[in-house]
Amino acid sequence: MGRRPDGAPPSGNPKRRATLVTGAGRPAMAASTDPYLLRNLVWCGPCDIPMAPAHEPRGDKRRAYKCPLGCRTAVVLAEPVESMTWLAAERHATVAAIASIYRQSVLEMLLVKVLVGATADDVSFVWRT
Ligand SMILES: [Zn+2]
Repeated sequence: MGRRPDGAPPSGNPKRRATLVTGAGRPAMAASTDPYLLRNLVWCGPCDIPMAPAHEPRGDKRRAYKCPLGCRTAVVLAEPVESMTWLAAERHATVAAIASIYRQSVLEMLLVKVLVGATADDVSFVWRT
C-alpha cells in the first residue's frame, strides 16, 4: 500500500487546500501529498485541543503527533493512529479503493475529529452526520 516517504519537516506548513465542500454541500476529493494524514483531525482527548504534527524526539524519528500542552510523556506515533482511523473509515463508508493521495481529503469529509485518549491506543472517532 504505497505509503509516502516521510520527507516533510516536522512543522512544515503545506498549502491549505480549498474547502472540500462545493455547491449544495457536495464534497469533492482533493489530492494531498501531506504525509500527516490526520493533520487537521487529530485531537488530544484529555486536553480537548488539536494535536500538532511532530517527530519522535529520538531514535527513528518516526512521524508523530504531539499535544501542544505537553500532557503526554511520549509523542503519539502517527502510523498506528492513522491505520486505525483508515480502518474505521473503511467500516464506516465505502472507501477501500481510494488512492492514498486522496485519503486525507476523504477522512476530512467523513470525520469531525479523531480523539486520542490518555494512551495512544485509546482512539475514538467523531463522525460527521
Ligand atoms: Zn493533551
